[in-house]
Amino acid sequence: MKKIITFVMAVSLIFSSFGEDLALAYDIAAKDGKQTDANSGEGALTEEPLNEEPAEEDPSQDDLVSQEPSQDEPAVLLDGLVEEDGDIYYYVDGKMVRSELVKTGGNIYYFSNDGTALKRLLKDVDGDIYYFSKDGTALKNAFKKVKNNYYYFGKKGKAIKNQLKTVKIKGEKYRFYFGKKARALKKKWKSVNGKTYYFRKNARAATGTTWVSKYYCRFTKKGVLKRRLDSKKKAVALTYDDGPSSNTETILDALEKVDGCATFFVVGYLVKSHASYVKRAYRMGCEIGNHTWKHQNLTSLSSAAINKTISDTNNSVKKVTGKAPVLTRPPYGSKNSSVASAVNMPLILWSIDTLDWKTRNTNSTVSAIKSKVKDGDIILMHDLYAQTAAASKIIIPYLDAQGYQLVTVTELSIIKKKPLKKTKSYSSIR
Ligand SMILES: [Zn+2]
Repeated sequence: MKKIITFVMAVSLIFSSFGEDLALAYDIAAKDGKQTDANSGEGALTEEPLNEEPAEEDPSQDDLVSQEPSQDEPAVLLDGLVEEDGDIYYYVDGKMVRSELVKTGGNIYYFSNDGTALKRLLKDVDGDIYYFSKDGTALKNAFKKVKNNYYYFGKKGKAIKNQLKTVKIKGEKYRFYFGKKARALKKKWKSVNGKTYYFRKNARAATGTTWVSKYYCRFTKKGVLKRRLDSKKKAVALTYDDGPSSNTETILDALEKVDGCATFFVVGYLVKSHASYVKRAYRMGCEIGNHTWKHQNLTSLSSAAINKTISDTNNSVKKVTGKAPVLTRPPYGSKNSSVASAVNMPLILWSIDTLDWKTRNTNSTVSAIKSKVKDGDIILMHDLYAQTAAASKIIIPYLDAQGYQLVTVTELSIIKKKPLKKTKSYSSIR
């Protein structure tokens, strides 16, 4: 008995390692033990179902794994642009294109990770920025505001960068600067090729005269900065009477070197014969004021005569510069209320009288200014005299070095925020 059990166990271990089978083997041995002797036990056991176990033991585990679901092949091989449920896809030989910029049929698309073409979206593709519109095509030669920023997309669809660009909007031309991230600059100064621009909060370059924070600025029609005055800095108005003359040009040269401007109160009858000086002064940004036609003392004239001398002078200036004077300096500083109402312009006097006409001395003219000058002064000189021109060559760079901005009378009133009123008189503006 003991032998048989040992044998059965051995057979069982060969065919199976399962405890169940071992129990079954014991069972068989117990049943057949009495009828079988130790030697015949082998034959009886061979007929037992134990032998078939290996076959049953392998269910179809491997077969299940190998049963892969078969792919449905498309009936037609998709190729090119395909529109489905409002989305655009792109196929090449039946394969959907993903995460790729595609140029096809003259249009540019970007197919995202899920294969759909981007729409109404800005997309950076390898450092180039595109805007894909509602039909999925990239904008070309177009200006576009996206999320509060402005872009310009060039002929190849790429947003332009580091570039000044004129854009026509509703028939008007505006200048923009598209920066390194392709966004148009806003509320920023920018120098391009030696020219300075200011881009407003709507990204358009400022033109004409305008304030930019503390600066009063003048820009050309194309947005180039021509003049920038700092309202927080000192300023004085140099004024020259009784010209124009051949000495005017020396004064203009000195002013030009420091980007300075002055006001020339001209006598009307000299304007035509010295038109080039007047024109140059005006182009430089200097102001041309009215000093009557023939230097008359206005208090001795009738209202009609005042009107005539003022308007004749205005007309002579306007013929040369295109703009009539808006300020008058009454000769000798002589005025009263009837003069003021007849002139009907602000009357500009002075706070520093250099007495240049009297001394005809360069040094005393220079020292008259140096000893008294302060912010907001209106300084009286005369451009008829060579000594005054010589003094100007000294005093102009001196004042500039002292931090004074050399401004016109009108500019002084603007940066000091003291608007000039007709019929009122002013000897300084602070
Ligand atoms: Zn005068």
